[in-house]
Amino acid sequence: MEPMTTTLVIATHNLGKLREFEAMRTAMIPDFPALADIAFAPLGDWGGEPPEENGDTFLANALIKARAATRLTGLPVIADDSGLEVTALGGAPGIYSARYAGPEADDAANNTRLLNELAEYPQADRTARFVCALAMLRSAEDAAPMTAEGFWPGEILDAPRGTEGFGYDPLFYVPEHNCAAAELSSGIKNRISHRARALTDLMRQLGNTRF
Ligand code: IMP
Repeated sequence: MEPMTTTLVIATHNLGKLREFEAMRTAMIPDFPALADIAFAPLGDWGGEPPEENGDTFLANALIKARAATRLTGLPVIADDSGLEVTALGGAPGIYSARYAGPEADDAANNTRLLNELAEYPQADRTARFVCALAMLRSAEDAAPMTAEGFWPGEILDAPRGTEGFGYDPLFYVPEHNCAAAELSSGIKNRISHRARALTDLMRQLGNTRF
């Protein structure tokens, strides 16, 4: 008998993220054949208002998004939350990464604020990391969510470099490639980033799961 396909909703309106999830799932099928029986669907297909992300950690916010989306869709959901933590700033911007320079801030404004906050710090004191938390809920009442976290260590540059990526990528120096994240191709970034690391972990767990 053919195995049934399980639809998993991805709680993002960002089609780039959806493509990353799909690429990672496909790449891992040889090692985890059960992933072939999973199909991803974007939350946008259901509409609905995004919930208030009022958790105090990345994981708490991923769980809030996942729970709201399981309520809306009645299907299992994966949600993510991510951001940048700068050591010298006590972990800021952290969960406020998307709105560091204010509620309507764009990437350029956030990057300018980050440069200003770090203006007095020498390169040696500019360590940082990107963090990605993922949560998978089978239903809104799921008492044992599947979770994964990925970390990508680096440093904050003193001026932007590169044109790829988004967010803080132009200011994020990647030591193992000796360049900014915005100077990496998406193919390389998607293999080594915080999201890639968290997704690999989650896919491994999903590949061992019976729905
Ligand atoms: P969200 O998880 O999509 O809400 O992302 C939160 C914010 O974190 C984004 O708006 C970016 O500012 C930042 N961020 C998360 N992941 C990345 C990344 O891969 N590169 C650059 N910035 C990121």
